[in-house]
Amino acid sequence: MENVGIYVHVPFCQQKCRYCDFPSWAGLSEADARRYFEAVCLEIRAFAAEQGRLSARTVYFGGGTPSYVAADHIGQVMDCIQECFELPEGAVEATIEANPGTLTGEKCRAYRSMGLNRVSLGLQTTSDEGLKALGRIHTYADFESSLELLGSAGFENISADLMFGLPGQTLEDVRRDLARLTALEPVKHISCYSLKIEEGTAFDTLYRQGKLALPDEALERQMQHAVIDGLAEKGFEQYEISNFARKGWESRHNSLYWVMKPYVGFGLGAASYYKEERRTNVMAMGDYCTLAEQGKAPVLEAHTLDVQEKKGDFMFLGLRRMCGVNDADYRRQFGSSFFEDFEEIGNLVAAGLLTREGPVIRLTTKGQDLANQVFVAFV
Ligand code: SF4
Repeated sequence: MENVGIYVHVPFCQQKCRYCDFPSWAGLSEADARRYFEAVCLEIRAFAAEQGRLSARTVYFGGGTPSYVAADHIGQVMDCIQECFELPEGAVEATIEANPGTLTGEKCRAYRSMGLNRVSLGLQTTSDEGLKALGRIHTYADFESSLELLGSAGFENISADLMFGLPGQTLEDVRRDLARLTALEPVKHISCYSLKIEEGTAFDTLYRQGKLALPDEALERQMQHAVIDGLAEKGFEQYEISNFARKGWESRHNSLYWVMKPYVGFGLGAASYYKEERRTNVMAMGDYCTLAEQGKAPVLEAHTLDVQEKKGDFMFLGLRRMCGVNDADYRRQFGSSFFEDFEEIGNLVAAGLLTREGPVIRLTTKGQDLANQVFVAFV
């Protein structure tokens, strides 16, 4: 039986953060939520009717803020997933993204009883002033309370999201965030990203008006190195450009993306990679629900990868992982060597952006700093 990862998009938030361009909205009603989750179940059932009963070892509720909606909605989708997919008992990593300030003891217990066993908490920074500037709804104390609620409900696998390169942030601020977060035993995994100014966000407007004091490139790089070194010192191994884990607590779901394993996404804006096809669902709530209700696939675009595209994706997704890519795996999959298919590799090694050990190439520290420059060689 084929194995896939399952992603479910939950596009509801209590308030829109000022930097966020994800497909998510604040102010939607309970009636909107009911209609949306019904539509998600219709989409899942239609997929299963067409593809048969597949096996899934990871389930991921992402957002948006999945913990903002009533737990019953998440339970309804979990029931539907269990009905349509084979979930091997005791072998499934089932994650829900949650934001501090939206969890209650009751919700946490409900998540456990429906089979969720991993929580990814959106912290972003431990500075209350910084959280306010980002437009987050919570304080650092709310984050600590969330950890307690999750611990009491029996969650052991907890990840936290952190950001750096924030307006007015100093290197010392980043170091303080790292020190506080790594001192918390329940936090087993940290995803850490630099702030990007996305078009159409409130931060984009401020930035264009010259009202956003962002760290310059050199300081941002120092922050990135502080993150990598600071987390390594505290036992968080970097296993992907933006992801760090205590030993044995790596995210299995996210790893699927980097090694081109199949995953199916449900809900508006959700992405899939299945049977060599990349698909993205429509983004608008009304369109998504109507299409699902009419029994039509709510797909915005679909594209089957040709061999060249698959080779490129293998390289640039695989190079995101610190273990790099192995020519033996590439040969098994494509019947040729990546050293021959991508002559640029030699130049990237000579420029100190990649390092080579036998059949394996991986990013150097300099390569991580200039990752986009490396990846462009493979697309
Ligand atoms: S909570 Fe997450 S998804 Fe929602 S607006 Fe903020 S960053 Fe975006």
